[in-house]
Amino acid sequence: MSEQTPRVAVVTGAARGIGAATAVRLAADGYAVAVVDLEESAGKDTVEKITAAGGKAIAVGADVSNADQVAAAFERIAAELGGPTILVNNAGVLRDNLLFKMSESDWDTVLDVHLKGAFLMSRAAQKYMVDAGYGRIVNLSSSSALGNRGQANYSAAKAGMQGFTKTLAKELGKFGITANAVAPGFIATDMTAATAKRVGMDFEDFKKAAATAIPVQRVGTPEDIAHTVSFLVSEGAGFVSGQVVYVAGGPLD
Ligand code: NAD
Repeated sequence: MSEQTPRVAVVTGAARGIGAATAVRLAADGYAVAVVDLEESAGKDTVEKITAAGGKAIAVGADVSNADQVAAAFERIAAELGGPTILVNNAGVLRDNLLFKMSESDWDTVLDVHLKGAFLMSRAAQKYMVDAGYGRIVNLSSSSALGNRGQANYSAAKAGMQGFTKTLAKELGKFGITANAVAPGFIATDMTAATAKRVGMDFEDFKKAAATAIPVQRVGTPEDIAHTVSFLVSEGAGFVSGQVVYVAGGPLD
């Protein structure tokens, strides 16, 4: 990076899984990182990992679907690290169920965290990015955006993330801001471990079964996604905007 002071990156849902790996990677890339998760204490491990490796990070507690908490988080991040110009909207939850069993709260929770959360975070972040004349937004979509049994709420949210991303790219491009989506396939995290548990399968067997259907014959790791995010938020990726990058070990039908 050319600047004296590091650019500031905000990663949501960064206490574990894909978000944690992304926070660690961006810190290694030279960014100061705000590790945002529901509880500040939950982000401590990620922060410790970053600082132990010589990087800079703070843990920030915020529910991304709560406008007041998002505003407070950005105030703190700007005061402690500086105005953020990188945002990774990664926080997510599952409330899987077949349509006839899906409750209204299953629907609302998933749409609120993924879509409303990305909206609130991006709206708060764009102010700093517009001021800086520079910004990078990456939204976590999913291969489930193409449709997935038991995930009417989640697939709607993740398809919504793609439309949201393309609109941000169109609105914010003139301010030097790009917006892209990363759509992972199967990534081994607590989220997929919980899915294995829900369907009554051992996680190792679940991963092995999933790998047989993936062209590269393995499931993904959080670092696979962090690597793609690292590229999309880099200065050199300034002409890549409004894209959805599927990171799934092969093409999807
Ligand atoms: P995970 O469950 O391991 O981690 C999600 C994190 O988000 C947790 O730390 C959780 O506390 C946090 N979070 C949840 N609600 C929040 C809220 N309201 N505010 C702030 N933080 C909140 O999940 P993961 O597997 O690492 O997934 C990360 C992202 O990638 C999610 O958006 C998920 O939908 C997406 N994704 C995951 C996979 C996969 O196979 N794991 C595939 C495609 C997409």
